[in-house]
Amino acid sequence: MRKFNAVVLGAGGVGKSALTIRFGKNVFIDQYNPTIEGMSPALSPRLLTDPLPEEYRCELIVDGHKCVLEILDTPGTEQFTALNEKYLKNARGFLLVFSLTQESSLRDIDSIRQQIYLAKGTEEDVPIVVVGTKLDLSNEREVPRATIHELAQSWKLPFYETSAKRNWHVTDVFEDLVRQMRKRYPDK
Ligand code: GDP
Ligand code: MG
Repeated sequence: MRKFNAVVLGAGGVGKSALTIRFGKNVFIDQYNPTIEGMSPALSPRLLTDPLPEEYRCELIVDGHKCVLEILDTPGTEQFTALNEKYLKNARGFLLVFSLTQESSLRDIDSIRQQIYLAKGTEEDVPIVVVGTKLDLSNEREVPRATIHELAQSWKLPFYETSAKRNWHVTDVFEDLVRQMRKRYPDK
């Protein structure tokens, strides 16, 4: 059975863990501790509860092929910076996660996207899927579909709009990534 590893990247609070856990365990986890206003990020309870990357191991069947996917869920952009080289070099696939309810979270994945290409030394054939989260929060939506279409064309990457809470399009994201990784890393 083929084994692939992927890393989940994006700003803190966009829903990386909720997405990963929805896929890996098929439950929705709502345990976010928002940063307390006026408190330095270093003291935020969020960082105390979510300081380290977590790894999930899942079996899935894509186009009739069974494989194992190891998914590394990272804590967030700031803490990530110190560790990024190792993740970026070792991972075969990348999920770039932003929140549809937070336009600024697109800037974070733009910068991460460029770091990935630098670490890989190429922009060709790097398996990447871009994931917009919190599709269910339609009243809070900040990122219009037109923006997503424009970015998908200029970055030449597939985008998905998802909800971990409602389990919308979560599986599609991981299947797309596995397809890209199978193509990029054919059986040896
Ligand atoms: P992370 O820091 O990127 O891992 O973000 P989390 O997965 O911890 O999610 C941050 C907050 O957003 C939590 O309160 C989640 O419950 C919430 N959240 C994540 N995904 C969704 C979603 O699809 N819909 C809604 N309504 N809330 C979500
Ligand atoms: Mg998390």
